[in-house]
Amino acid sequence: MSKRLVVGNWKLNGSLAANEALLGAIGPVAGVEVVVCVPFPYLAQAANAVATCSAHEAAAGIRLGAQSVSEYAAGAYTGEVSVAMLAEFGCRYVIVGHSERRALFGEDDATVGRKVQAVLQAGLTPIVCVGEALVEREAGQVMAVIGRQLDAVLALTGAEGLGRAVIAYEPVWAIGSGRAASTGEVGEVHAGIRRWLAAHGVPAGQRLLYGGSVKVDNAAALFALPDVDGGLIGGAALVAKDFVAICRAAVANGG
Ligand code: PEP
Repeated sequence: MSKRLVVGNWKLNGSLAANEALLGAIGPVAGVEVVVCVPFPYLAQAANAVATCSAHEAAAGIRLGAQSVSEYAAGAYTGEVSVAMLAEFGCRYVIVGHSERRALFGEDDATVGRKVQAVLQAGLTPIVCVGEALVEREAGQVMAVIGRQLDAVLALTGAEGLGRAVIAYEPVWAIGSGRAASTGEVGEVHAGIRRWLAAHGVPAGQRLLYGGSVKVDNAAALFALPDVDGGLIGGAALVAKDFVAICRAAVANGG
């Protein structure tokens, strides 16, 4: 079984001073791969902090990630950031298709697919976010929505490519709401995603994360589920002691 993975998504938060304090307080957690996805301007600062940290602990597990990326490699695309640029700053992971990107910045399934492909082609690991809105859950469309989102990626990457991605199940209604999905809901959807992947020829062993209002008090129960390999953490990733406690909960549950 691969190492548990806990990813902090800082979103549009941070400052040089706040980041220094946060990064200085996180530190590696033995037995779990910890990733911080920081805003683009802070990649250099975070890369330095992570390098310093790694120098102290041979088994260090703090890695750097980004929250989005351009589907384009270079050219007249004002405001965009390429995957090669992210790689130069030591990024290993890129969140793609976060529901905030889909809802607020018009990223459709096809765009998400192209971005995932760009990340894979550069040798980085995409964290592909999928999940349903509340109205879709209430209409019984959870796996139909997720299947549609995954299909758009699979069409471009093929099964082998999708197998190299991390998938994060993030029900839209659970993100930033304080209302995490129940263990029953998460267990059911993660098992459904595993079935979908197997049915589409994606190699077994892919890491599936849960994201959406993961906190210190619910992390252990969520991470104990058989098909949950870690978490994508938003708000709680900005509080060092909470983020570290959540990472430790992942270790305690199979790391
Ligand atoms: C997220 O932004 O991916 C997320 C899961 O946020 P939160 O933990 O705050 O719900």
